[in-house]
Amino acid sequence: MDETVFANSESYAGDSSAQSVLRWSLERFHPQIALATNLQDAVLIHMAREIRPDVRVFSLDTGRLPEETYEFADEIRRVLGVAVKWFFPDTVAVERLETEKGLFSFRESLEDRRNCCAIRKVEPLRRALHGLRAWVTGMRREESVTRHGLELVETDRAHGGIVKVNPLADWTQEDVNRYTAEHGLPVNRLLERSYTSIGCACCTRPVSEGEDARAGRWWWEEPEHKECGLHLFDQKESEGG
Ligand code: SF4
Repeated sequence: MDETVFANSESYAGDSSAQSVLRWSLERFHPQIALATNLQDAVLIHMAREIRPDVRVFSLDTGRLPEETYEFADEIRRVLGVAVKWFFPDTVAVERLETEKGLFSFRESLEDRRNCCAIRKVEPLRRALHGLRAWVTGMRREESVTRHGLELVETDRAHGGIVKVNPLADWTQEDVNRYTAEHGLPVNRLLERSYTSIGCACCTRPVSEGEDARAGRWWWEEPEHKECGLHLFDQKESEGG
């Protein structure tokens, strides 16, 4: 793999295996690095803890997550012994949003949907990343058209140029399933019911065979809009995590 040089002068020159990328990032940046769990599977958490048992793990509680996701988070705590650090949206911002626009404003327009994601996801993520030099995501290229250009290691321009590490960028869902089975890891029960990408309950549905993994996210929108604003692609802010 060619050496990847970042704006903040950090670089990665190792091979492209998920374990190698993750090991490099944790050895280089811990404790100023944290892993953002998608609360779908436990692959990255398990892999990271094999390298650093004290790895920092966080997630965003939007207030609208499915019951199965909360149960899975609790399973991670009980079975794997990992205390996920939670970040909640600003209370006043959510109170204002729901009072002024109702509980389902995100279905009214793309702008309203982005606004809800900005309050419930983007702003809490900024706080979660404050003071970090790097973070780890579970994003994969095959998930949707918005992620085809994903790199293993990137500069995160949306968050001050810190390093964003995507160890599973070239993994398929089959790879995730295989790793999960080999290590006897728990999964979010929604994955057993044709959900392939899990977000807020009100903005996620199961997918049909042949659909993109993220087709069930904001299913009423065009595919190129299916991001929540947590990630930058092609050097411009995406619309929508
Ligand atoms: S996924 Fe839906 S409910 Fe969740 S923050 Fe975005 S718009 Fe709001």
